[in-house]
Formats: sequence, C-alpha cells, structure tokens
Amino acid sequence: MIVVMKKKATDEMIQSVASRIEQMGLKAHIIKGTERTVIAAIGEKRNGEKQTLAGLDEVDKVVPILAPYKVASLETKCEPTIVRTHNLVLGGGHVGVIAGPCSVESEEQILESARAVKAAGATGLRGGAFKPRTSPYSFQGLKEDGLKMLAAARDETELAVVTEVMTPEHVDLVAHYADVLQIGARNMQNYHLLQAVGETDKPVLLKRGPSATIDEFLLAAEYILDQGNPNVVLCERGVRTFETHTRFTLPLATVPYLRERTHLPIVIDPSHGTGIASLVPPMAAAAIAVDCDGLIIEVHPNPAEALSDGAQSLTPDQFQDTMTRCRAVANALGRTI
Ligand code: PEP
Ligand code: MN
Repeated sequence: MIVVMKKKATDEMIQSVASRIEQMGLKAHIIKGTERTVIAAIGEKRNGEKQTLAGLDEVDKVVPILAPYKVASLETKCEPTIVRTHNLVLGGGHVGVIAGPCSVESEEQILESARAVKAAGATGLRGGAFKPRTSPYSFQGLKEDGLKMLAAARDETELAVVTEVMTPEHVDLVAHYADVLQIGARNMQNYHLLQAVGETDKPVLLKRGPSATIDEFLLAAEYILDQGNPNVVLCERGVRTFETHTRFTLPLATVPYLRERTHLPIVIDPSHGTGIASLVPPMAAAAIAVDCDGLIIEVHPNPAEALSDGAQSLTPDQFQDTMTRCRAVANALGRTI
C-alpha cells in the first residue's frame, strides 16, 4: 500500500512513519516527489495495518497498490524517473544514446568505437566484457581486461560505460569499472543477480527476457528496486516469435504500454531486436517516434570482423546517419537527443 504523507510533513515525521511501517514487518520505500512524499509499504498484509497508518496525524491517506509490481508502478510514483550518470541522461523527455560494439575485443577497437560514437552524439558506451554466448565455443569476452579497456575509453571520452554482469560474484568487480550495470536478456529472471545489483549504487539496464511477459519484466525490475536501488532502466530488445527472418521480433508498443504503468525510463535495442544492420536505423527512428527514453545500438569499426554480432552492427558512418535521422524525429516531437 501507499502511505501518502501530508504536504507539510517534515523529514522527521516521514522517518517516524517509515519506522512504524518497518515495525509492522513491512518494507518502507520513501519516495520524495515535488509535491509530497509517499511511502510504499511493501510486504504481506495483515489485518488493521491500513487503518493504523491512516490514523496517524502526519498521514493524508493510505491507498492499496493494485499492480503486482509495487515500487515500479506509476501508482507509487507518478513523476518519471530520470537516470543520469556522466553525460548520459535517460528519461524526462531526453533521449540518451548508448552505442558501441557487442564485445570489447581490444584497446584499439573500443577506443576507436568510443571516439566514433561520441563524435556522432552518443553519451554512453556499450561493450561486453563478460559475454553470455549461446555456444560455449564462441568468444566469451575479455573479462577484467575488457573492463579496464572500457574504463580507459571512458577516461578519454567521458562516455558512461554500460556493460553486462552475468553472476552475483562479479557484481563488485564490474561495478568497480562500469557506470551502468547491464543485466542481459538471458538473466532477466536470475533473481540472486537482480538482488545483487540492487544492492549497488550503480544504475541498472535491465533487458527483457525474449519470452518474458511485461508483468514478469516489471517484477524483475521490482527485485532490483526492492533492494533500494531506484535507478533501473527497462530495455526492450525483442521477443521470440514464429518469425525467423529477423533475429527477434521488436515490439515497439512496449514503450507506450510500459509508459502507462511505470515511471522507469524505457530504452530500445534495435540491434538485438532485429539482428540485421540495415533494419537498425529505421527501427531506432521509430523507437523515438513512440517516445522511448533511450537507445542502445551496436556499432563496430569493422562489423565484418566483429567477434560477436557483426551482422547487426553499424559502421561508424551508418551510426552517424542514424543519429541524424533520430535527431530529426526527436526534434519534431519536442524531445532532445
Ligand atoms: C548484448 O547486449 O550484447 C546482449 C547479449 O544482449 P541481450 O542480453 O539482449 O541478448
Ligand atoms: Mn550483442
């Protein structure tokens, strides 16, 4: 349930209601809005709690949260969550662009990618150091060496580093180098991993599982939020359907649908969503037209030689054209990119 505090409630009063909620065996998530503060009281409900809390002087009203996800729900927080790190801003009418290779392959490759995507207007650098590959015989990533190369690229370009973490044991290591922790599609329901990234202070880019429903997706985000990390970004990267011509099927309706349910920023990945480089620019522009908060796009200095996902990677020139196209759509809609 949501405990809506009176407008004049002081920090002390808010803390005292939060402690009261905790004494009831519930978790208290304090959410400060511009108008007033609400406290989401999460946990198994028993009898009488709603009445007790509603009876407190500093409380305006207590309302149930109907959605299965609680902290992620618009019912709990109606203002959009804006995630910022370095120059990367996702949410609140601004489109943040994260670009770079599927995998970090060498220092030269990541630096060349970083310089190119920055020149085209990206503010985030992607690149996997720990790679979840379908085959155990495929390139698995450069691991910590790759993380160091990403950090060096950030030092030079000031791009925010977005990179995947695959296991709870690696969270501290990856968080040491990264600015945004990516949870890959295959790990969307790895609950211990979600909890582990929820304990960090780094923003998390959560990719939708290829066969996860929207409720499952939002409940996965809830695992992270429930640990106290408010900076969760949802990423639609395509779902598996009967279609085989594209790698996945990219449902852009996810953006307006999620917008009606959650305050979290929504990013589109047209690279994994299509699997085909020529389809990336039009789908990126379309994602902006449906009002996404950000894009994550694979760009490689030489896609033909890429160690992973070359077929869906743009060249730096193609990425620059994509940005021009996206900027035109964003400007037409009063958005910045
Ligand atoms: C990636 O971003 O390179 C990746 C592995 O993505 P996904 O988890 O969406 O497959
Ligand atoms: Mn990839």
